[in-house]
Amino acid sequence: MKRSQYFLPTQKETPAEAQIISHQLMLRAGMIQQICHGIYAWLPLGFKVLSKVEKIIAEEQDRIGAQRILVPTLQPASLWQESGRYDDYGKEMLRIKDRHDRDLLYGPTAEEVVTSIARQFLKSYKQIPLVLYQISWKFRDEIRPRFGVMRGREFLMKDGYSFDLDYDGAVTTYQKIVLSYLRTFERMGVRAIPIRADSGAIGGNLSHEFHIVAETGESEIFYDKAYDNVSAQHIEFSDLEKFYSAADERHHPETCSVLPDRLVAARGIEVGHVFYFGKKYSQSMNLSLVGPDGQSFFPEMGSYGIGVSRLVAAIIEASHDQHGIIWPEAAAPFSLGLITTNQQDSALLQKAEEIYAFLVEKNVDVLWDDREVRAGTKFADMDLIGIPYQIILGDKAKNDSFEWKVRKSNERQDLSWNELFNKVQQSMLP
Ligand code: ATP
Ligand code: MG
Repeated sequence: MKRSQYFLPTQKETPAEAQIISHQLMLRAGMIQQICHGIYAWLPLGFKVLSKVEKIIAEEQDRIGAQRILVPTLQPASLWQESGRYDDYGKEMLRIKDRHDRDLLYGPTAEEVVTSIARQFLKSYKQIPLVLYQISWKFRDEIRPRFGVMRGREFLMKDGYSFDLDYDGAVTTYQKIVLSYLRTFERMGVRAIPIRADSGAIGGNLSHEFHIVAETGESEIFYDKAYDNVSAQHIEFSDLEKFYSAADERHHPETCSVLPDRLVAARGIEVGHVFYFGKKYSQSMNLSLVGPDGQSFFPEMGSYGIGVSRLVAAIIEASHDQHGIIWPEAAAPFSLGLITTNQQDSALLQKAEEIYAFLVEKNVDVLWDDREVRAGTKFADMDLIGIPYQIILGDKAKNDSFEWKVRKSNERQDLSWNELFNKVQQSMLP
């Protein structure tokens, strides 16, 4: 992509309305635009990142056998009356009437809709275990939307729903999903701490929140330092259970099982929340199946959420410096930035065209800043939008010397064409 043709409205000044760094940087990097309070449009750069994050989530869900669906954002009130949540949900639910005066709502979540789908088609225990998930926009009329997409009113969520024959099966599914979440966040280049959020009673509800550590997190979290060395690829659920973690009021210094020198106290951004809740919806909405003994039973269910749009902001909170965003490679909007320092120098432009054509041909997702602006503006913008690697073509480019810059470490090297090619090959070619 050539920057001169790309819709990327960056800005130098920090917008006054943004309090936290991710919100400031997302606005300055031209990723999002507020349309009304707590409701945002995603511009090309932002949408590219959102799509990458969404894709990683979907791949990790597919990998564990969860099946993707898409249910409507508008739901009939009647389904929520069946579960009993229509009255309970309160003002966070956006309630709508259609032209026939029928009550609808913009879904804040989808347990009822997915249970109604299961009710229609699941007849026998042989059809489960089953995990269905979707990635779609939710609406919650938050009392205090703030921090940009971190706490919006309309936001993108991955929500999954599981159906199992019995408690043991449900726990197995639950554990599998917890581990898949750890792999999902690790692939995005962030560490999310799983925090137990239930009472811990055997046979009761089971719940974990996933928090990314960042100063601006809304929760206070406490966890065993051992989590910092956990590799999601290798861990078992039983290993996780060995480490202490708790959020906010669930943490009690007196009963906390971890030694003080291993206890980390930090702020966390909740990017995921999983919940096992037994027969709550299957029973209230009469989803019953025929079991192995010929008797009907209500399946055990759980639901599993990831805040997809919030994650984009959380990654920025966890990865930035004074110059701008530093994207982990997996979430980066482009793999490589190309800067030409002088748009009047035809020999230099000729070189740039060659390199650009080569990269495009190799399927490297490259953004070439070919605008007629000062080099300093290009450097600042490229750092702001946080592409992991940059190639800078200055005066020396005519003699086949190119500057290679790593955004994260600010490491710079002058490379020949061959060396440059090797770098590209190492860093971004499959
Ligand atoms: P919170 O405590 O932050 O309000 P929640 O417990 O209400 O979150 P869930 O119902 O578990 O959230 O939703 C699943 C995930 O969706 C959350 O872990 C969070 O990452 C995300 N999420 C929830 N509310 C919002 C929001 N208003 N804006 C953006 N993301 C949200
Ligand atoms: Mg909430």
